[in-house]
Parts: sequence; C-alpha cells; structure tokens
Amino acid sequence: MSEQHQRTAQYEQNGQTHVQIASSQEKLHDYEEAIAILASKIRGELILPSNPAYEAERKVWNGLADGYPAAIVRCIDAEDVKIAVNFAREQAMTLSVRSGGHSAAGHGTNNGGLVIDLSYMKTITIDPVHHTARLEPGLTWGEVAKKLQTFGLALTSGDVASVGVGGLLLGGGIGWMVRAYGLTIDRLQAVELVTADGQLLRASADEHPELFWGLRGGGGNFGIATAFEVNLHPGGTVLGGAVFYEATEAERILREYTRLAAAAPDALSTEVLFMLAPPAPFIPPDKQGTPVVGIMVCYIGDISEGEGVVAPLRQLATPIADLIAPMPYSEIFALTGVGEIPGFQHHSRSQFFETFSDEMIHALVESAQSVISPETLISLRVLGGAMSRVAPDATAFAHRDKQGMVLITHFAPLSADAASLDALTQRVFRALLPYANGAYVGFLADEGEQRIREVYPTATYERLVAIKNQYDPTNLFHRNQNIKPTATRAMLVTSVSS
Ligand SMILES: Cc1cc2nc3c(=O)[nH]c(=O)nc-3n(C[C@H](O)[C@H](O)[C@H](O)COP(=O)(O)OP(=O)(O)OC[C@H]3O[C@@H](n4cnc5c(N)ncnc54)[C@H](O)[C@@H]3O)c2cc1C
Repeated sequence: MSEQHQRTAQYEQNGQTHVQIASSQEKLHDYEEAIAILASKIRGELILPSNPAYEAERKVWNGLADGYPAAIVRCIDAEDVKIAVNFAREQAMTLSVRSGGHSAAGHGTNNGGLVIDLSYMKTITIDPVHHTARLEPGLTWGEVAKKLQTFGLALTSGDVASVGVGGLLLGGGIGWMVRAYGLTIDRLQAVELVTADGQLLRASADEHPELFWGLRGGGGNFGIATAFEVNLHPGGTVLGGAVFYEATEAERILREYTRLAAAAPDALSTEVLFMLAPPAPFIPPDKQGTPVVGIMVCYIGDISEGEGVVAPLRQLATPIADLIAPMPYSEIFALTGVGEIPGFQHHSRSQFFETFSDEMIHALVESAQSVISPETLISLRVLGGAMSRVAPDATAFAHRDKQGMVLITHFAPLSADAASLDALTQRVFRALLPYANGAYVGFLADEGEQRIREVYPTATYERLVAIKNQYDPTNLFHRNQNIKPTATRAMLVTSVSS
C-alpha cells in the first residue's frame, strides 16, 4: 500500500514499535492540534492507534490488507463525513473510505493515512406505500433484506449478507434478482454525496445528472455517499436454495445449466458454484470433501410456476443434495455464508463473458479441476434479463450485454502460502482469458490500470475522467479502482481563482 504522508509520533502495535516521522516538529505539533480539533468536532468516534479498539478497527474483510492507518473516524452522519473529508484534505493524508469493508483490493484501509468508516451509518427509512427507501451506506445487504422483508418488499443487490451497501451500490450490484430486477444501480433514484471540497450535494436525474450517471458504476471516485434513495420492488417468498451434483459430469451439467438458465424467464436468477462439498449435514458423509457443482436458484413470482421453471435444473443428474424450497427472500443469504470468513486471505479474479461456448465451459471445468482444493470457490453466473435491457451508456456500468460472469477465489487463513493460492487463482483466470470480455469493478482486486480499463470501455472511461476532473481534480478519493483526473495544475489554479 502506498504511504503518501507520515506523521504522528511513536506507537506500539503487535509488540512492535511504529515510528511515524513528521517532516518537522512544528508540523507534528500542528497535526496533533488538528487531531484534537477533529476529535472535538465529530459526533462519532475517532480511533487512534493507542485506542484498544484500533486493532480490530484497522482490519478489513481481506486479511491481505494489513494496514496501519494513523486514524480512523467512525462517522455517524453526513456532518461527520464533511468534517473528516476536510481534515484529510487539509492534512494531505491518504484517505480510505469504507462501508462494509469488503473491497477485495483492501482499499478500506491504508498505512499512515485516514480511514473514514461508515459502518455505523445504518439508518434505513422505508416508504411502503410508494415502495421507496433511503439507505445509509453502513447497512449490509443482509440487514436491508431483513428490514424490507417485513413489508413484502426487496431490493435487488448482491448474494452475500455481510457486503456493505456503500461499495456494492456504487459499483453495480449483481445478485439474486439480477435478471428479474436488474442491477442495484438500476433502482437508484438519488445519492447524497460529500465531495472532495467537503460539500454535501444530492445527485439525481435532475441534480448533477452527469455525476449521477457516474455514481452508477464508477465506484467511490467522486465523493462519499452518505445516503441512497432507491425504488423497491416486490420481495416476500422466493423459490430459492441449491441443488448439488457430483462434479464427475461437470462439463455436461454446466453446458445444460447455461442453456437452461439463459432461456429461463427473467424471474429466475441463478449461479453455479464449483467447490469441494462442505462438511455440512445436508451432504452425505461419503461425498463431503469431493468436488461438486452446486446450482443456486432464486425464483421471484408465483411459487408453483417457479417449481416448473426450476425443475429441469434439479434433474441434470442424481443430486447428492437438493435444498430448493420456498423461503423468505432474506433467508436465501444463508446459502452463501461460505464467502463470509473475515480476516482470511482472499485471492480473486473475475471476468465477464459475452456468451457460453462449449470451449469456454471445457476450459473452465478443466482448469477448475486442476486447482480444486478446500480453498477453492469458483462461481459462474448466467446474467441477462432486466440487467441487459438498460442501454450500455445509461449508467457507468457498460457491460449490459454480458451473458456470464466467473469469479475465481482461493481463500485461507493468513498462515497459508499466499503465492501458491494466487497461482491457483491465476491458472483458472488465464485458461478463461481467450473467451473473456470485460471486468466488474465490484470484483476487482488490486490488478492494475489495464484491468480498470476492462471495466470501463473507452467512451465510459473518458466520461468518468471528465466527472473526476470536475468533482475531485486532486484525486483525494484515490484508494479505489481509480479513475485518474487529467486536470492540470494550471487548470486547477484557473478554476480556483475564477
Ligand atoms: C464475499 C463477497 C461477496 C460479494 N458478492 C457480491 C455480489 O453478489 N454481487 C456484487 O455485485 N458484488 C459482490 N461483491 C463485491 C462487492 O460489491 C464489492 O466488494 C463492494 O465494493 C463491497 O462493498 P463494501 O461496502 O462492503 O466494501 P468497502 O470495502 O467498504 O468499499 C469498497 C470501496 O467502495 C468505496 N466506497 C464504499 N463505501 C463508499 C461510500 N459510502 N461512498 C463512497 N465510496 C465508498 C471505497 O472506494 C471503498 O474502498 C462481493 C464481495 C465480497 C467480498
């Protein structure tokens, strides 16, 4: 992680002494004074390295990101966020912003900088009559689903409960209802945003419309979202769950699955997992630890019609377990708890696919079988439906035409050999490269500039740069999949003096 600025005095951490050097005693004094003022101004909490909560607070979901920030501000409202943004800018500190902390790249922490932690901003206001809601960024999608369930409503989002509203919503949002109700950004009506100059504004189709376009897929590049206004849709009971097959016939099963899932009505969204069968009670003991293909389904609509739609996916071979049943939408998240082990190291790569060819499926199965271990989790989603009916230039998420997405992950405790886990991930990734086309910002790890360009086709990227130049020309918000501003110093001086 890059360290832009060093300051503060010496502190003990993990039995080690960390020394941060200010460029002069005077500057250190100024900084300490500024920190004291910050602490007195915010209504939330300022966590410094000396605070007992620091060790837990500095950590994020991906244990590979082992940052030691100089300070963490737990904001509780937009006013706190404004104060913290002004502080980071005035002190020229590296700034990380986090909501649920799930960034695969570990952008939610840093070394020696400031972290703005929004995980305490969890207010949700629901209007059950107009089917709208206002969500604060620190909510998780599991929490949102549970609250909306009470009203028989839902919001298309991701597939894992602990992921934060803030990060997923700014990136796109591909989940259990993507074919029925599109990406999460497709339900977004307005964003309340604190910009780099510490101003709170509202972006919508009518207010800062170009910024609103960029916020729907452009990630955290343009400011800090303090609230999201969304349109809800029906939720209630879904036909959900998973059917597991032995992976001995994985190639045939995947061929048939992709064909059936792509042709199914939009009400059905699906995802396939390729993994070793977990030691769970629903897996027969002799099959635990053996390679399996698990097809996860979520049908929203009339349950008996759903049974008919889902039936062929349950008959692709003799299942070793079939957990598909009607359930409240909020309970479907229990299926993906496997991805929720905080503190583990996670190595991931992801790709979009325009279509599923037999060659692509062969490459996927062959490479997956060559790496599969208890640390492996490979998922393939069939997209399309409502997501694909939005024009590619309507939002900053341009890959509307993509039929498939693969996510390759290896995860393990921090003591495991990182290089070999990464190599296994890369092996599957490389095998799929000839068939891949584009990347999803939400699943990008720390993969470099070229991969960011794969997320945003040229026209989208150039439009995002123009928005960045306008709202964050000095790149205060750079701990993200960064859109680099191109505004020159001369342009900035002119705009400041005019
Ligand atoms: C286990 C797991 C499962 C996932 N499943 C899905 C899925 O099913 N579908 C899907 O679409 N994605 C999924 N993702 C990807 C997920 O959408 C991104 O990782 C997302 O960025 C996580 O959001 P967060 O708030 O939890 O993370 P954070 O680490 O808090 O945020 C990620 C980045 O987003 C920016 N950011 C966060 N909050 C704000 C804010 N309020 N204002 C401005 N910028 C902000 C920052 O740049 C931050 O570094 C998954 C990720 C994981 C780890």
